Amino acid sequence: MLREKYEIRIESIGGFGANLIGKLLGEIGAVHMGMEAQSFASYGSEKRGSPVKGYVRYSKDEIRINAPVREPDLLALFKLSLAEKENTLAGISESTDVVINTDLSFEETADKIKLPSCRLWILDAMGIAVECGARLNIVMLGAMIKASGFIPLEYAEEVVKNTVGARYPDKLTSNLMALKMGYSRAEMKEMNTKYKAEKYKDTQRAMGYDNGTIGGVNTVFANSVTNDLQGCREGFLPHFIREKCIDCALCDSTCPDMVFQFKDGVNMGMDLYHCKGCLRCVEICPTAALVQAKEGEYDDNIGNIYLKDKDFSFTEIGENSWVDSESYNNMT
Ligand code: SF4
Ligand code: SF4
Repeated sequence: MLREKYEIRIESIGGFGANLIGKLLGEIGAVHMGMEAQSFASYGSEKRGSPVKGYVRYSKDEIRINAPVREPDLLALFKLSLAEKENTLAGISESTDVVINTDLSFEETADKIKLPSCRLWILDAMGIAVECGARLNIVMLGAMIKASGFIPLEYAEEVVKNTVGARYPDKLTSNLMALKMGYSRAEMKEMNTKYKAEKYKDTQRAMGYDNGTIGGVNTVFANSVTNDLQGCREGFLPHFIREKCIDCALCDSTCPDMVFQFKDGVNMGMDLYHCKGCLRCVEICPTAALVQAKEGEYDDNIGNIYLKDKDFSFTEIGENSWVDSESYNNMT
């Protein structure tokens, strides 16, 4: 049953498709449910791997504000680790439905992120997406409309058909399955925890024309200025199997971030500091020398560098390897 107004905040990462889900929810409200609806997103660097917030409002009356959703009725976390970031869990109360993509239990989830009392919905959305061959965001949409308690599944199916179906007809069946599985597998428990709810803090500009460091260098870890994405890249990474590599360099010409390190025509491995996890290299590799891996799955390619020759040092090709390497200089 719809209240006078209903507000949703989506906490996600660029590339997960949260913006699309916000738009679909807005469309469901305005087109299918006859309400006033609003949907917009705020990005950091507008780059894959960066945190993204999506906001959706439904109302029986005109919506005259265009501000972040500070006290959501429904909060969705596409990735558990986002909870560490400021404002992710802000503004929730005992009546907030919080939907989280996680394979942990209710209690483990709440303790891990210090979740205040709320109505917690959990599901392994990433696992379902892999199972269906669909997108994580569609699985989360299914879970979110179930958690809302008033958005009919048929309306979500309709908007998914009109968007995914129109753009990628061959992916429609798998995404509709993902939507239904997200809906059916999301489970809820009312959590009464010891953690205190925090108020939403309006963002102060961290660095701007009047307070930026001289030279404009952004010294904050994990950002697209220094191109160090290791702190915000989430989900999947490529895993390199050197034995299968034929050094064709297709990965190198495909990778938008010059992750691959070639020396004397040989693919030495990846400098994963710069990898944003787009997996284009996995798609292009003709010999399956690059495969999709979950972040944290392999010890030898997490966080920094996977190398063919473990003694190889990037100082051999320059301190700032990605600038001085053969890859960057188009020598491969
Ligand atoms: S595309 Fe695959 S086979 Fe070709 S160089 Fe890259 S990893 Fe090796
Ligand atoms: S996933 Fe592959 S193509 Fe994408 S940034 Fe990482 S190494 Fe480059």
